[in-house]
Amino acid sequence: MRVGRFAALLLALVLVAGCAGPAPQKKSTKAAEPAPPSAQLEAAAKFALALGAADGATLATLIPKESAAEHAAEIASIKMKSADSANPSRSWNGTVLVLKAGKSEYKVMSDTPTQATVSDGLGSMTLGLAQSGSSWLVTEVDGEPSVCSVLSLSPKGLACQANMEVIFVAHEMAKAEVTTVLTSVAQLKPKYLEKVPTCMSGGTYTLDPEKSVICTVHGARSGAW
Ligand SMILES: [Zn+2]
Repeated sequence: MRVGRFAALLLALVLVAGCAGPAPQKKSTKAAEPAPPSAQLEAAAKFALALGAADGATLATLIPKESAAEHAAEIASIKMKSADSANPSRSWNGTVLVLKAGKSEYKVMSDTPTQATVSDGLGSMTLGLAQSGSSWLVTEVDGEPSVCSVLSLSPKGLACQANMEVIFVAHEMAKAEVTTVLTSVAQLKPKYLEKVPTCMSGGTYTLDPEKSVICTVHGARSGAW
């Protein structure tokens, strides 16, 4: 078995080297050990953990560089929720990587080499991945730029979510009475919405039949995960 020989070789190397570098996973004597998770799956897992913990500093390293640079100040304003993500417990069966951090549990699996799905028991998100140099980055979350999900955790992003909630309610009321499809938030004025709220990050709002409300900076109303 290739894996068994690899494990034996690792063990031999560790013995020879006097245990330098990361120790191999335990159970290395087991012959049917699956190959480790791919680099992109690890990136997806890291992103999910950091998103759950509102760890802006880590998230900034996992999204495309230009996005992180453009929104550096807003990302820096994200208030971390917990430090649980630092040392999650892991289990890997060759297909699904299960991470437990505090009360959160994430199941991460690859759909394609550039797409992974993360579920947390409440819902799931689809991550688009791309290689950048020697590392993998999360470029999209549910079809939107990944930076939107990150920015939704900032104080401005949270305020924006509240704005979108107000617009959403107004849109729902309008839909009950108006037969035409509304696409502009301005169309909700003045009957359903007294004034259009302002996104503090300079985003503009549009109505979307599927995603209800979208901010150009913070993404869809349901984008927060
Ligand atoms: Zn916004």
